[in-house]
Amino acid sequence: MKLCRFSFEGRTSYGIVEGETVFEADGDPFKDGVAGLKKTGRKAAVSGVKLLAPCEPTKIAAIGLNYKAHAAEFNKALPEEPMLFLKPSTAVIGPDEGIVYPSHMSHRVDYEGELAVVIGKRAKDVAPEKAREHILGYTCFNDVTARDLQGKDIQYSRAKGFDTFACVGPWIETDLDPAKVRITSFLNGEKRQDTSTEDMIFDCFHLLSFVSFVMTLLPGDIIATGTPSGVGKMKPGNTVEISIEGIGVLRNIVVARQ
Ligand code: MG
Repeated sequence: MKLCRFSFEGRTSYGIVEGETVFEADGDPFKDGVAGLKKTGRKAAVSGVKLLAPCEPTKIAAIGLNYKAHAAEFNKALPEEPMLFLKPSTAVIGPDEGIVYPSHMSHRVDYEGELAVVIGKRAKDVAPEKAREHILGYTCFNDVTARDLQGKDIQYSRAKGFDTFACVGPWIETDLDPAKVRITSFLNGEKRQDTSTEDMIFDCFHLLSFVSFVMTLLPGDIIATGTPSGVGKMKPGNTVEISIEGIGVLRNIVVARQ
């Protein structure tokens, strides 16, 4: 199931996307799972509604250096355990929203296309074999990064934490097998990243388990599972698309800070 949040005619709802149509759904998938969702009978064309970020995380647990080729690209040794950092909930934007270029502090802002795990059920001290039970589904994520500040600061908080630096969507696919899907990123329509999740160092279930032994993951929280090789810079006016096989395409534009 493709589960979205959308606003249409002044109302914000969960929706189920089937082809080009979104069906409004009653119920809360983060409380009752997808089984508790019921179509209300109201529907609209996907192109005619405003899609929102499909979840409202309390935090984004993000993983650095989780693809072998990306580690090589930055000349880093493969990590022995996942490299965990946080992005704030206030950085979240949905499909087609603007990534605001923080030109008052940074002059190098990169896209990072990533597969995002969306938590469905509270997770604390979860074994990898049980991780699946805590996942509602998967979506596309752009871990926007001020690369110059990442190099300058010891902590990642500023480089990764600006408002609009966590693009999420277009919806949550609840039936995906994340072991072997293709992630592709496009800048102004030109392909820049193209890798299978098979190249991950730590898979989604191990990441969820690892994070859950550090901090409790709550329904709606996101684990951003790291970016493959091919990251690069963006400028105001650019369009960036993160496409994941079996999910869909997350599109955002970069806009100048007012
Ligand atoms: Mg990243």
